[in-house]
Amino acid sequence: MTVLALAGGVGGAKLANGLASVLPEGDLVIAVNTGDDFVHMGLHISPDIDSVTYALAGMNDSVRGWGVKDESWAFMEATRHLGGEGWFNLGDRDLATHVLRTQLLTKAPLSAVTADIAARLGIRQAIVPMSDDPVRSMILTDDGEMAFQDYFVRHQCAPRFRSIRFAGAETARPSAALVAAFEDPALEAILICPSNPILSIDPILSVPGIRQRIVDRRVPCVALSPFIAGQAVKGPAAKIMTELGLPTTADTIARHYEGLIDGLVIDEADVPGWTGEGPTIHGADILMRNVDQQQALAHAILAFAANLRS
Ligand code: GDP
Ligand code: CA
Repeated sequence: MTVLALAGGVGGAKLANGLASVLPEGDLVIAVNTGDDFVHMGLHISPDIDSVTYALAGMNDSVRGWGVKDESWAFMEATRHLGGEGWFNLGDRDLATHVLRTQLLTKAPLSAVTADIAARLGIRQAIVPMSDDPVRSMILTDDGEMAFQDYFVRHQCAPRFRSIRFAGAETARPSAALVAAFEDPALEAILICPSNPILSIDPILSVPGIRQRIVDRRVPCVALSPFIAGQAVKGPAAKIMTELGLPTTADTIARHYEGLIDGLVIDEADVPGWTGEGPTIHGADILMRNVDQQQALAHAILAFAANLRS
């Protein structure tokens, strides 16, 4: 049995980590958004790949919600002291990943480099970038168009969101490992993590061929809602949906993934208010506060998908 999970950063990493701990080694492929990737201070940074990698390596900072635990910040302090670029935080330990990735990328594509770094950290699951080709999320706001990290970090998502486009997507190809996962005869389920549908999942779907492969699926596809009681657990998903005039409910998630999903896992407290059409609904406690809850939810989602299969 193989499971393919589509993931962004923090929300993706939480479910991916639960799946990694309940599925046999080798049975999980995590396809990760690279629309947030950028070059900063000469370093190739892949924030969502890093979030997933750090979580599966058990080295993520679950309190801060991003980056490496037991982090130190000497590099940032020195950078600011020198009047260097201080708007994007790079912890000392995190920095080692970006330096190594940047070096390795001179000789190998991102998917090989991602697998190499994961192996060095003892990870047995496949973490695969959506594409080896550059795809860059560009956010159109009321203050004009900006690169993803300018919007997300420099401006803290404050400008009003209008639309997103994925520069480079037209000519990008899905990574070979992702295509192989779709074509694997052992594939039993496709899961869409509770990642931000617009900022994290849509870039993956923008790579030619990926959306169509999900539309043409022969196995169930199940999504997990990022909304609980009308709010996002973290990040700007609710703010963006509101700015687009959409309610911040599971119905909106179902509509967003129309044609792509057979099942949607929503919070049990939201089940009575569900008025949507389309996917089969499964209610569960979908807030993952710790690893035990990541595991419990992974079990529940896999069982739900198996049910949809039969
Ligand atoms: P980013 O790339 O780091 O911004 O993270 P993602 O896009 O992967 O995930 C962000 C989304 O995950 C947000 O919309 C959150 O609402 C959602 N999220 C985070 N933690 C949880 C959780 O414990 N449960 C659920 N259901 N959603 C979560
Ligand atoms: Ca992200």
